[in-house]
Amino acid sequence: MAPPFPAIVFDLDGTLTSPGTTRPAPGVVALVQTLHARGVPLALATSAGTAAARRVLDDLGLLGCFGSVAGRGVDGVLAGKDAVVGEALLGLGITDAAPGSVLVGDSPADVEAAVAHGLVPVGVAWGGGSPEALRAAGARVVLEHPDELWSVEAS
Ligand SMILES: [Mg+2]
Repeated sequence: MAPPFPAIVFDLDGTLTSPGTTRPAPGVVALVQTLHARGVPLALATSAGTAAARRVLDDLGLLGCFGSVAGRGVDGVLAGKDAVVGEALLGLGITDAAPGSVLVGDSPADVEAAVAHGLVPVGVAWGGGSPEALRAAGARVVLEHPDELWSVEAS
């Protein structure tokens, strides 16, 4: 059976973790594990340092689920979210995302980066951004719970 999504890029803070913490947001660990088990290529795009992001994923037991982790480089320079998402996709070997590929994030900047890369912009309501701001930035849907991702239409 084909994976349910061609690829998914996740934001870290406020999306996989509760805002400002390294604790997992409720339901996200199970979601990521299920997506991985079903063969969906997963990438992380964060404004945190790449090494720190890898440690957080490892603490969550999810590092092995991600084929690509992109963040602030060792030089400390933070590219815009748009560039980080591009790097995250390249880490999966993707230069041109297939239709139905998704970005999940909690900030308008995540949504804007998704649009720039042709990804379906999916907002989350448990992070730092308001659902209204996410929709205004172009989010197709704002999830109240991670399991709602399964009802996002692929196209
Ligand atoms: Mg975030």
